Amino acid sequence: MTVSETTADGEIDVEPDLLSGLESYVTLSGAPEEHFDVEAPYRGVVIGELPACDEADIEVAFDRAEQGQKAWEDRTVEERAEVFKRYHDLVIDNAEELLDIVQLESGKARKHAYEEVLDVAMTARHYAYRAEGYLETEQREGALPGLTETEVNHHPVGIVGMISPWNYPLSLAVSDAIPALLAGNSVVLKPAEQTSYTALKAVELLQEAGLPRDVFQVVTGFGPTLGEPLVANSDYVCFTGSSATGRIVASQAGEHLTKCSMELGGKNPGIVCSDADIDRAVEGLIRGCFTNAGQLCISLERLYVHEDVHGQFVEAFVDAIEDLQLGTGYEYDVDVGSLISEEQLEKVTEHVEDAKANGATVLTGGTGRPDIGPYFYEPTVLTDVDESMALCANETFGPVVSIYEWSEEDDVIERANDSDYGLNASIWTEDLDYGRELAKQIETGTVNVNEGYAAAWASLDAPMGGMKNSGIGRRHGDEGIMKYTESQTVAVQKRMGMTAPPGVPYWLYAKLMNKTLKFQRRIPGMR
Ligand code: ADP
Repeated sequence: MTVSETTADGEIDVEPDLLSGLESYVTLSGAPEEHFDVEAPYRGVVIGELPACDEADIEVAFDRAEQGQKAWEDRTVEERAEVFKRYHDLVIDNAEELLDIVQLESGKARKHAYEEVLDVAMTARHYAYRAEGYLETEQREGALPGLTETEVNHHPVGIVGMISPWNYPLSLAVSDAIPALLAGNSVVLKPAEQTSYTALKAVELLQEAGLPRDVFQVVTGFGPTLGEPLVANSDYVCFTGSSATGRIVASQAGEHLTKCSMELGGKNPGIVCSDADIDRAVEGLIRGCFTNAGQLCISLERLYVHEDVHGQFVEAFVDAIEDLQLGTGYEYDVDVGSLISEEQLEKVTEHVEDAKANGATVLTGGTGRPDIGPYFYEPTVLTDVDESMALCANETFGPVVSIYEWSEEDDVIERANDSDYGLNASIWTEDLDYGRELAKQIETGTVNVNEGYAAAWASLDAPMGGMKNSGIGRRHGDEGIMKYTESQTVAVQKRMGMTAPPGVPYWLYAKLMNKTLKFQRRIPGMR
């Protein structure tokens, strides 16, 4: 197969064997009955077809995952970590090929695809070196000092089911799987149907790094068919996608009392303060709003700019946006790539047209660019947006941002928080202490001061996820691995039992205990 992508300045060929052999990493119970097409958004052409797995395939995937899990769990954390240290290097060594596949399937610009390579490598490194510390048995304070020895073990849950979206096909297929695997679990992944080749390539590299084949199963196909059996068989479910689908998956997990974490949508606010460095804010907010053509759950879709700098900011922001290079190239010089699909283009177009019809002003963009590729849409800035417009409160998931003016701090905090979502926020100020204080009042799981989203996301030691309708649970840091474990408290009672000592009447024991408790509360170190 040869895939060629047309750019304004010529033809770029993608390696003919880029996708060959990847289908063999799909778990199947037999010859697949149906296939589905995978499209390259740059040109809207079909680049391959993959099996539309069914319930029987899911069963085989879980059987294999279960067979592999025990031996994997029996390895030491250090042994498991070796796999991910090798994976870190393999991802970097194979970056060009990974980037080609990500771009081919998602239509994003190469620099945005590269963020995924960075993320996967950094996540592999973080957990490979930190997992042992996170997972080790902990000594805890016992019930009776000197008489009770208490420790907590962290066992793997078993099999983690994952459902991942198309917008970050590499990152979101493997970065959550890495801590799950390091904790001793198997994983069954259902990647988004639009971008499954990327997930299969990531799994190929995991196997090359030494991950036993059984412990990472991939089933390709459609969510409504595969979601339910996947959730029913999982010991834990990790979902990333829209809030609407998240509700379905969470309710299925609820039926089975299966624990789950979800990272869902956002309508993320950015706040530009009167003392912001405008040049830095313009550069950072362009990335914050238009990375991956705005198809990023943590990207910013609402900007609140202080009245003192509003005019200056808007002029510089619009000028800089008009200089952005849109294109289909496989080089780093393109600033904004394509949307993923016709469906996504329709959604973005509908939001902007509805806003225009209801009185919004388009400062730049506001139109598709079929001259570049079928699903391209111009980076778009709107003002005069109000609640009558669908995009005011709802996630667009495209390259569209609305700008509002503010003057009073209380008011901007209220407006930033006036959302059902609570994923990410961005604050621009030269007064970093003020930025930190303002951040505490914003109801989002991450707040970036003088960055759009990347600083908090890439702080892998710290939790990342959503408040309100933006999610359940967190990824990254200790929470990002401990969620895949069951804590088990083991308490060893020495010498005497948890009752009155032999020969001491219970009334006396109760009296002594009352005195002991009062004494303990007053003594630091015994509370
Ligand atoms: P989008 O609408 O942008 O594709 P989704 O949240 O629907 O976003 O998709 C995220 C992931 O959820 C994809 O892998 C998709 O196949 C899967 N999915 C879609 N519908 C369901 C469902 N009913 N149950 C489980 N997974 C689903």
